[in-house]
Amino acid sequence: MECPRLDQLYYYQANKLDPELAAELRVHISAPCDDCHENIAWLARLSNLLSTDDAPHLPEWLTRTAVAMYDRLPSEEPSGGLGRLIARLAFDNAAQPQMAGARESRSAPHQLVFKAGGYDIDLAIEGSPPGSRCDLTGQILGLGQEFLDVGEARVALCQRGQMILEIRSNGFGEFRFTGVAEGEYDLRIRPRGHEVWIMDLRIAEA
Ligand SMILES: [Zn+2]
Repeated sequence: MECPRLDQLYYYQANKLDPELAAELRVHISAPCDDCHENIAWLARLSNLLSTDDAPHLPEWLTRTAVAMYDRLPSEEPSGGLGRLIARLAFDNAAQPQMAGARESRSAPHQLVFKAGGYDIDLAIEGSPPGSRCDLTGQILGLGQEFLDVGEARVALCQRGQMILEIRSNGFGEFRFTGVAEGEYDLRIRPRGHEVWIMDLRIAEA
């Protein structure tokens, strides 16, 4: 294969490239290819420099993907302007042992709880008729009193480094995306002073 494009290198590093293309790319850069290695080093530097996805003069896919990559770093230390946190799964009702009668309630939502730096994010995913689309509802439970830090928070649904839709939570930190196509998403939540990422969230009918 010829040298991959910069965005393909990006998605490759973020593990979000099409698997077949990723395999070809892996062969290409293990050759090795100096140009590509230079680009990889540059992308790595860039992702460390970017402290905001509002950075001007860069294509949108680049800033978004750079930020997404940056946030994949396994660190809970605040870095730069916003304290960035990767949420970890704390509860998943689909992973619980089946209780008597649970199998009958097929329409029960898939419930998940994520934790990050003192925040709890409760999520519920359920099918939205006529099927193959889902509603995602959630609530951010924060650090402060009276929902001051979680009300009117920006909540963005992202996929492969692209923001699909951004909404705001209500005054109680609740939010709702309706009619979401089944797939894997990243959820970016910005309570006051923080940015919380829920990575690789599978949105599908239970
Ligand atoms: Zn190359």
